[in-house]
Amino acid sequence: MTPNLNYNWVNGKKIKSADEVSIFNPANGYNIGNVPSVSKEIVQEAIDSASTAFEKWSNYTAETRQQFLEKWAVNLLNKQEELAQIMCEEQGKPYTEAFGEIGVCAKFIRWFGEEGKRIYGETIPPSSENQRISVIKQPVGVCGLITPWNFPGAMVARKVAPALAAGCTVIVKPSSETPRIAIAIFDELMATGIDAGVANIITGSSSMISDTLFADNRVKKMSFTGSTQIGKTLMSKASDQVKRISLELGGNAPAIVLPDADLDNAVNAIVDNKFENSGQMCNGINVILVHKDVKQEMTKKIIESVKKIKVGAGNEENVQVGPLINKKAIDKVEQLVSEASNQGAVIETGGFKADVGESDLFYQPTVISSVTADMTIAQEEIFGPVAPIISFDTEEEAIEIANASPYGLAAYFFTSDINTIYRMSEKLEFGMVGVNGTQLSVPQAPFGGIKESGMGREGSHYGLDGFLELKYISLSLLKK
Ligand code: NAP
Repeated sequence: MTPNLNYNWVNGKKIKSADEVSIFNPANGYNIGNVPSVSKEIVQEAIDSASTAFEKWSNYTAETRQQFLEKWAVNLLNKQEELAQIMCEEQGKPYTEAFGEIGVCAKFIRWFGEEGKRIYGETIPPSSENQRISVIKQPVGVCGLITPWNFPGAMVARKVAPALAAGCTVIVKPSSETPRIAIAIFDELMATGIDAGVANIITGSSSMISDTLFADNRVKKMSFTGSTQIGKTLMSKASDQVKRISLELGGNAPAIVLPDADLDNAVNAIVDNKFENSGQMCNGINVILVHKDVKQEMTKKIIESVKKIKVGAGNEENVQVGPLINKKAIDKVEQLVSEASNQGAVIETGGFKADVGESDLFYQPTVISSVTADMTIAQEEIFGPVAPIISFDTEEEAIEIANASPYGLAAYFFTSDINTIYRMSEKLEFGMVGVNGTQLSVPQAPFGGIKESGMGREGSHYGLDGFLELKYISLSLLKK
């Protein structure tokens, strides 16, 4: 039994609501608890408290803020098992992945706590003798942070930690699919004794909450991670007040395998990435582009590897692929696979719902060959455990297929030639490129996309910059 997390945190206090949202375990369909569906008044109270708290929090030294963040990281690690259990039950991912994600939260929080001490300004040589030019960085102010369900812990930590380290105060709105783990992570932040109002979390109607945050001019910045479709809506809402906005949106990552690649390394890296989180990962591989000379061997190796994957509830031993998040997600996967098959693609393994648990949300890890770039499965984010393979003849053709996507989050390629590495890294139109490996998200590197995959970066000093404004100060020296 995981704890009852039927409250939000506003102005340092736990608040409940008569209206609630029910939360279900995707592995068995059982209700695992309810969270508040807050009223507009509560959203306004959260803005009031974050706004009041900003004055004091933004004036603390970076070292004081870092001490709160360090305590938060330690608290999370002390409860890593319990938190992983909450995440596994609510989101469906294997327990080992959930356990790892709590560790990732602590890493991001620690890194940003330290990086907050390095928010340096600048002095610039002037054009006249009596002028002095300096540039300082200041916290943006109150921030609204909207997070998705696929990494329901890491996405909260990756936004809250840099915001707090920069001196901002926050109001978090987690996904209605996975609010309990976000609340549990917040409990550990509150347990640090952080000042009331610095960090608030509210759950309920996403459109009402976001409309209220966008409409209030005390909220200076919105940071959103989620689908491109909602991201576009929020971008237009931001225009009313020219509110700062960062968007981490959908992707369509290609993995390109060139003929000189180490094929065993490529198979391991591709399968690890493709099936992590049941394929529900923004930087997850969507299509595998394989050079015609190695197509047969590569396809065989991928099929062998995928056949070994164990599907089941996340808390069962050795499970690598859990349920999908909801009915809409599995319906989409089924539809994309059936459409591709009807258009001539070959289902090599899988291609059906897996009958392994109490719910209807398990999908068998699937490999499909003879896919073409014009099929919907190659163009849309699949967000499920399905690996489509496309064959190509030349490097130029592979790059053309990859760059044709409106998305530009992550791309991967595999080769042993240093010239190809530089050429392709520069030509691929993506915010992140993985060469001979697929692990990307680390605190010190800028995670994010170009084109319709968003704007802004999370992680690294660039991620911290997203919560800071530049101010140029020109001083005219008075004559003695
Ligand atoms: P989503 O449906 O767009 O939801 C994301 C968040 O937006 C949730 O908190 C959701 O709340 C909220 N939301 C929904 N409708 C809204 C509205 N009209 N106004 C304001 N907020 C609204 O996305 P998702 O299905 O949770 O997440 C999967 C997507 O996120 C994928 O496309 C994935 O690629 C992307 N993603 C991107 C990154 C990245 O770093 N680029 C990382 C992770 C995920 P409710 O649940 O309460 O409606």
